[in-house]
This record gives sequence, structure tokens and C-alpha cells, in this order.
Amino acid sequence: MDELRDLFRRAADHAADYRRSLPDRPVGPPVDQAALTRAFAVPLPTAPTPPERVLADLVAAAEPGLVATAGPRYFGFVVGGASPAATAADMLAAGWDQIAFNPVTSPAAVAAETAAGGWLKDLLGIPATASVGFVTGGQAANTAGLAAARHQVLADGGWDVERRGLTGAPPVRVLAGAERHATVDRSLRLLGLGTDAVREVPAGPQGAIDPDALAAALREAGPGPTVVCLQAGNVNTGACDELRRACDLVHRHGGWVHVDGAFGLWAAAAPTTRHLVDGLEAADSWACDGHKWLNLPYDTAFAFCARPDVHAAALSYAAAYLVGSGGVPAGADLTAESSRRARGFAVWAGLRELGRDGVAALVERCCALARRFADRLTSAGFEVVNEVVLNQVLVGFGDDARTDRVVAAAQVDGTCWVGGTTWRGRRLMRISVSNATTTEADVDRTVAALVRLAHGAGEGVVH
Ligand SMILES: *Cc1c(COP(=O)(O)O)cnc(C)c1O
Repeated sequence: MDELRDLFRRAADHAADYRRSLPDRPVGPPVDQAALTRAFAVPLPTAPTPPERVLADLVAAAEPGLVATAGPRYFGFVVGGASPAATAADMLAAGWDQIAFNPVTSPAAVAAETAAGGWLKDLLGIPATASVGFVTGGQAANTAGLAAARHQVLADGGWDVERRGLTGAPPVRVLAGAERHATVDRSLRLLGLGTDAVREVPAGPQGAIDPDALAAALREAGPGPTVVCLQAGNVNTGACDELRRACDLVHRHGGWVHVDGAFGLWAAAAPTTRHLVDGLEAADSWACDGHKWLNLPYDTAFAFCARPDVHAAALSYAAAYLVGSGGVPAGADLTAESSRRARGFAVWAGLRELGRDGVAALVERCCALARRFADRLTSAGFEVVNEVVLNQVLVGFGDDARTDRVVAAAQVDGTCWVGGTTWRGRRLMRISVSNATTTEADVDRTVAALVRLAHGAGEGVVH
């Protein structure tokens, strides 16, 4: 047993040393992918290898290819860094090796999900009666929410899609903003609705759906099964759809509202940003990530549904069993997976660590740091093209080619990591501030690096 203790301690020590190195190590070191692959691609040994040797080899092989996404100056995509308590809880989840399938396979895992799910609804302002599926990401949460939507809008039309499938079913119309996240389309493909089902609703200048255009699209669609996908937090600009008005329009039409709020739904947890998602409680289903802005470990996200019965009808494959367990859908009844990791422990631990005030402070600090980025880069003569309402900043460094050169140079430089994007036909740098450990000094250091690189890029020199 002491050998096991030693092995686990070594793993924890490696993880702690790595975390401690994050503020100082190059954020995205240049990587020779082929060399990395070679380091892993040793021939499969015939004989067993002692576990401590396996661990040492794994660390040696992986280290050169790790990206400091959990660190304070990673501003690519929308990426948080798992908090200390949540990470430690996730280590325990691995150690306990629980199956969060249902209360029989792991009473503790299901209880943690239930409690953490309640906290999440409370923080986000989602009705306490909603169900919560603990899923792998915003993608899976969109699939779960849209599966519930598909079930209900077809049931309203007298069609049991779970039994009869889509062959011969009344067509389902999906109204979604032109700036929806690409995962929505993949969810629609997986659900057999297909991307042709989408009637695209024009977006306003910041990427939020135009409510007048939504009203017109609903009128044009006429009666029949209708699902509307709204968004809280545009992945480029951070813009949120006008949820209250949109939900009202859709419900008067008899449709289902799904909100993709992978990161933007967290605006609800802070007093200064809550207005951005005003009315969110009126929706029928919500997708929200834990591993982005909430700084929980991968892979953690939440699929909420205002109607637990519909949620379970769409996803559970053990309806009879649910009754046996008290009729409350839980665990795998609310996700598309069967055997599942016990994600609830890390969610519970991360929320407990932060508390209500800590979550609000995390959101507000990230937004303040995003504004700091915008102010400093504007002062330095560069163009911030979005209204910085949340944690996303879009920056132009001149023409497209120069912006691309600055992005590429920043990715090699190692001070920070930022990505590029195309927004309204322009190449831009996208900065997302989503990590609890990012400080004003990190922002200033990043701005200094970007200004230096931009001056180099202006002369056609990369760095
Ligand atoms: C990130 C994101 C998703 C996808 O989430 P994953 O966690 O990567 O599966 C969906 N929608 C929006 C708006 C996002 O920002």
C-alpha cells in the first residue's frame, strides 16, 4: 500500500510543481509535434512496466508539449484554469473511481451533483425546479437541451420522437442567430434535425440576435414545431441576446427556447453584469460550461432543463428504473452518456471554494481586466472593435495581414497566448479573460508584449 501512496503522491507533486510554474513558463512553447509523438510512440511493451516508471515516462514525454492554458496569461478561445479545490477534488474523483451513473452505482457522486446543481441554479438564476445534467462541455449541453426541445415540440404536435424517430415526423424549424456557436449546428446534425432545419435570424452589430428579426422569422415560420436557439455570450464579442424579449416572443408562438450560454450565462452571477442576461429564467433549456469561466477542470458542463420530465424523456433509457429510485431523474438520466465520471465532486468543491461572492468577483474581475486590455490597447493606438461588455476583446492591429502577423508572433513569443478570428469580414485578435488567477500585472505585461510585437510586425519583421 505504501507503494500506491508513493505513486499517487508523485502524481500530485508533479501536478503541483507544474501549477506553480504556470506564471513563469512560456505560455505556448514552440512544439515539435513529430518529436512529441515519437516520445509517446514507443513500441507497446510486451511485459508489464512498474507504475512509477510509467508515471516518470509519462511526465517526461508530456512536459514539452503542455500548454499553459491553466495559467494567468492564456487568453485564447474561452479557457479558464481549474481552481485548487476543484482540481484536488477531481484527483479524488479519479482515486475513488466512482461511476456517476445513478444512486446505486455511486450515492455520493449523485448527491454531489444534486447539491452542486442546486447551487448552480441559484447562482445563475435558473428556476430551482429545473433539472441539471452534468455533461462534458457546451457541445454536449447543447445536444442535451436540444434533445429535450426536439422531444417537446414534437410531442406538442402529437408525435413521440423517442419511439417513432424523425421519419414521417412533422418538420421541426430551428430559428437561431446568425452568430450562433458552431456546436449548435453539430447538435442539430446529431439529433437528426440537420443543419437545413436552421432558419438564420440576422444579428445586430455586436452579434446578438435582432429581436425584431426574430419576431418576423416566427411570423414567417407560422404554426408548427419550433425551436429557437438563443445565445448568452458571443464567442467573439461577448454579446448576449435579449433573452427576456426573445423568450416572450417564442413562447407566445408556442416554441421552445434553448439558451447556449457556455460562458456568458455566468454574467448572471455578478451584480454588475446580470442585466446582460436579464430574463434568462424564462427559457426552457440552458447550456453552460463549468470548465470555461467557472474555472473547473475539464470536462465539465451543465445541461439545465425547465422540465425535468421532458429532459429525462429525451435522454433517459431507464424510465422504469427512475420510478424505482423515487421518480427523480438523476445522473445518467439527464445526459447522453451511460457510465460517467463523477464530475460533481469537482463542481461542488470549486463552488464551495469560491462561494457566492467569489463567483461574482471572478466574473467582475475578468470583465474589468478585459476593459483594461481594451483601454491600454486603444491608448497604444490599436483598434478595439467590439463593445467590451463581458470578458471578450476583439483587436485590430491595422490591416488583416498585420493583425495575423501579431497573433502569430504572440503565439511564438511565449509571454501570452491569444488567438485570431474573423469577425464581420476582418481578421482580428481575440482576447478572452477567463482565469481567476489573471492579474492587472498580467494584462499590462501582455499589452507590453503585444505592442512590442505589433511594432515589429508593422515593419514586416515577426519578432
Ligand atoms: C465554448 C462554447 C461552446 C462549446 O463548448 P465546449 O465546452 O467546447 O463543448 C458552445 N457555445 C459557446 C457559446 C461557447 O463559447
